[in-house]
Amino acid sequence: MKNKPKSELALYGGNPVRDSLLPYGKQWLDDNDVNAVVEVLKSDWLTTGPNVAEFEQVFAETVGVKEAVAVSNGTAALHTAMYALGIGPGDEVIVPPITFAASANCIVYQGATPVFADVDSKTLLIDPECVESKITPRTKAIIAVDYAGQACDYKTLNDIAQSHNIHLVDDACHALGGKYNNKPVGSLADLNIFSMHPVKHITSGEGGVISTDDTLFAQKMRVFRNHGITSDHHQRELAGSWFYEMVDLGYNYRLTDFQCALAKSQIKKLAYWVKKRQDIAKSYDTAFANMPEISPLALRKDVSHAYHLYVIRLNLEKIRTCKATIFNSLRAEGIGINVHYIPVHLHPFYQQKFNTRPGMFPHAEKAYEEIISLPIFPKMDDNDICDVINAMEKVIRAYS
Ligand SMILES: *Cc1c(COP(=O)(O)O)cnc(C)c1O
Repeated sequence: MKNKPKSELALYGGNPVRDSLLPYGKQWLDDNDVNAVVEVLKSDWLTTGPNVAEFEQVFAETVGVKEAVAVSNGTAALHTAMYALGIGPGDEVIVPPITFAASANCIVYQGATPVFADVDSKTLLIDPECVESKITPRTKAIIAVDYAGQACDYKTLNDIAQSHNIHLVDDACHALGGKYNNKPVGSLADLNIFSMHPVKHITSGEGGVISTDDTLFAQKMRVFRNHGITSDHHQRELAGSWFYEMVDLGYNYRLTDFQCALAKSQIKKLAYWVKKRQDIAKSYDTAFANMPEISPLALRKDVSHAYHLYVIRLNLEKIRTCKATIFNSLRAEGIGINVHYIPVHLHPFYQQKFNTRPGMFPHAEKAYEEIISLPIFPKMDDNDICDVINAMEKVIRAYS
């Protein structure tokens, strides 16, 4: 008999490492969270009520700024930020291609033009030099994305923004609880965007937050999330008044009171959860250090990584197959790996509407061929972590 691999890959009929699929990310709710929501469900305020402002205050304190504005999801938060900055038709906003489509879509919602700037090939964070080269008289803002949970080079990005008199936005949806030069993510740009989708650091089901030190921006954003109306129902009730004015065209981007109660309960656990994410990352780093076929993304020295994602790159010249086969093999072993992201400029919408083409952003496109996100979330236990490592070793060994 020819020498068969010791443990046959599940993809070819062998026993999988796990029977049930381990997702790449997942929420963690305890009884305190459930009780916090139930309490609001029994109260008078289901939507905008006291929990909204209370959550906003706790969030602002957590990230070390004056103001936080809660909205219905992270995408709404991005849109609200674009509105607050006065982004409109004819304006350009710079954004990296390695991100979730929403980071760029928010620019298009306001009728402006997204201008992509390539990422650094080692960290996959927006490259300040590429940003600088894309600035024109029409550029109004830069959206940096703290990809995977690692803060970008905010010193350089803020210098660029200031010298061109434009605004800096941090899409920090991956990085709540992270730090840059010991400053919390959420305080690094003019406006900082968070999501509370269940795979993110804390959840309210759906939910989003913008943090800022600028009280005028915060005021504008609170009006925008409420149809462009200058007072909300809760405020009018407290003031005993029926009067309100719609001063601009806004949206209904409000977050409900019970979701804010959930978020308020969840954020208490943030520091512990970030530590757990960092510990899982450390276990992976150690296990993969002697596997030349894969390498984790490069770490910046000046950051504390919040690890929304743990991303590895496949060294394809050392592997006898392509990413798709590795992906399918790991999935068959019960490891719910994922790919973050298909570069935004390659999506048909952007190619058709903004004339983007393959080949335009070589670092992003090369990374896309090689990146895989492994499961990482605070509720993972040691067995789960071992399963991921064992499956990775099994699959890589089979193809190396
Ligand atoms: C999750 C995410 C968003 C969008 O958040 P939603 O709450 O799902 O709308 C935007 N940008 C990035 C980078 C994200 O990861």
